[in-house]
Amino acid sequence: MITSLPERLPDTDAGHARAADILRAGGLVAFPTETVYGLGGDACDDRAVARIFEAKGRPSFNPLIVHFADLDTVKSHVHWTPEAELLAQTFWPGPLTLVLRKQADSLISPLVSAGLDTIAVRLPAHPAARAVLRALGRGVAAPSANRSGQISPTQADHVVKSLGDRVDAVLDGGSCPVGVESTIVGLVDKPVLLRPGGITEESLAQTLGRHLAVRHKAEAISASGQLMSHYAPDALVRLNATDWEPGEARLGFGDVDCDLNLSETEDLVEAAAHLFDYLHRLDAQGAKVIAVSPIPHEGLGIAINDRLSRASAPREG
Ligand code: AMP
Ligand code: MG
Repeated sequence: MITSLPERLPDTDAGHARAADILRAGGLVAFPTETVYGLGGDACDDRAVARIFEAKGRPSFNPLIVHFADLDTVKSHVHWTPEAELLAQTFWPGPLTLVLRKQADSLISPLVSAGLDTIAVRLPAHPAARAVLRALGRGVAAPSANRSGQISPTQADHVVKSLGDRVDAVLDGGSCPVGVESTIVGLVDKPVLLRPGGITEESLAQTLGRHLAVRHKAEAISASGQLMSHYAPDALVRLNATDWEPGEARLGFGDVDCDLNLSETEDLVEAAAHLFDYLHRLDAQGAKVIAVSPIPHEGLGIAINDRLSRASAPREG
């Protein structure tokens, strides 16, 4: 079997421009950051974001960090706060991610934040990452550029080995400084350290003039699990619906008569791209039950079914 390799791009102006062109066209480009290589897709393009999840082969949707070249563009997508300003002035560009409330009119794909009303944003310091982001002029969603469950890549060859042609191009910027993930600080309410990383809690506290609430590792894992169930529609969700009951909002898949169709052609990338937007839209119509056609349990369908079964689970309180 012949598998084609991703295009390899040099760390030059031409390489950065080519990377931006591929991203603009909805493709995926792996690029170096100061932490690890990121698997980037246009954060405003639902299909590109869905393809990130498909390429990684994760069985669930976890929210992604959106990378930007400049502060003004960040501010156009989030509700900026004085604490965010302090931290950004001190630590950006660099390995610090801020979780902020998303502006209602932001065009960032809802799949990026797995349906939450917040987004995680960062200005990376790596010159190659900055050059690509500047050339594109938009936010790029980028988790680590490896298949789910594999080790994070710190060289272009690691990316190629792990993802093969699941990524369209790899920008070869040599080795990343190893082992430092970005620190994640939540600023939706009081400042919370969501994930420890390259920037220490002490230096954050010093800048803010106050201590951060800290989530320790074990809690952080369960916290990100809770995060996933955070967005549940008000409506109940009925799965594997092969017929519709009167009064239900009908979320279809394939050749069915329905209110909104995740993908008439049974394309799972398209279905994932529409999932959160359509759940929100049907929910906003005030239906008591959203009935969903069966989704094949393969590839991205596994993550879609994971999300839908969380939405259909019994509610607390
Ligand atoms: P990684 O892609 O490995 O850098 O990991 C991204 C991390 O950011 C995950 O642990 C996510 O849970 C976290 N994250 C991304 N978006 C959000 C968000 N909106 N709220 C809270 N955490 C987030
Ligand atoms: Mg990773």
